[in-house]
Amino acid sequence: MLDMPKAAIDIRKVTKIYPDMDGGTTLTALDQIDLSIKPGEFVSLIGPSGCGKTTLLKIIDGLIPYEDGQVLIDDVAIKGPGRERAVVFQSFALLPWRTVEENIYFGLELRGIKKQDCQETIDRYIRMVGLKGFEHRYPSQLSGGMQQRVGLARALAVDPRILLMDEPFGALDAQTRNLLQADLERIWQEDQKTVIFVTHAMDEAVFLSDKIVILSPRPGRVQEVIDVDLPRPRGDDIRTHPRFVELTNYIWETLRTMIVRQPEDER
Ligand code: ADP
Repeated sequence: MLDMPKAAIDIRKVTKIYPDMDGGTTLTALDQIDLSIKPGEFVSLIGPSGCGKTTLLKIIDGLIPYEDGQVLIDDVAIKGPGRERAVVFQSFALLPWRTVEENIYFGLELRGIKKQDCQETIDRYIRMVGLKGFEHRYPSQLSGGMQQRVGLARALAVDPRILLMDEPFGALDAQTRNLLQADLERIWQEDQKTVIFVTHAMDEAVFLSDKIVILSPRPGRVQEVIDVDLPRPRGDDIRTHPRFVELTNYIWETLRTMIVRQPEDER
């Protein structure tokens, strides 16, 4: 694989309004989002349900139009999806009729690469996500955690400069989540990408991120950006670090205050 430079992302005054299907009122999901993400940075988006986290991720992925503003990657405005970006979904989104190896190959295949020309890459990512020995299993023969490892390997295998992750560990139990967080932190250090990670788990955001962006309740605005000044690499013992606990509590307090202020039907 080519050693690609890491990518910077600039989100400038992005506003997203969803039309109302019945011709009634429209819904402002995002209001003037301004955010700068440095090359190779790991940034989490956190905020109350419905504040527009997924919407913002889809906009950065180039999947949906928006009313106002611009998203720039290395100073170039994006016009749609691009090869420098890959997504990992909460739902894993694997192809059930393809084995682990064939699922990981999928993105490369879409790029017209022959399997024999990328076997080394596939093997590298199988090893990186800890799936050696499971190459020929089907998704239904794997645990949720292993399925998400496949999802991660598939996204990484196309060597994107930017990884967009939408609550990737949201469907997993607490222990599996912790294991995958630790693995993702290690993989990110090894394979440095610019990562935008949507989550509603405060400890997950603190564990993984360089920077945490708290979005306000709808319409989503940047409420606060927190620098996570914890050392790396972050093993499990970081979870009891006083600063880890302090940051997690601070985010919880900030979110709690916002949610309490929100009308009940929007929580
Ligand atoms: P989050 O990921 O923070 O939970 P979303 O980005 O999914 O928030 O949604 C933000 C707001 O936009 C919510 O109120 C949601 O109901 C609304 N919304 C999301 N997608 C659509 C859509 N396709 N059409 C209309 N409204 C939508």
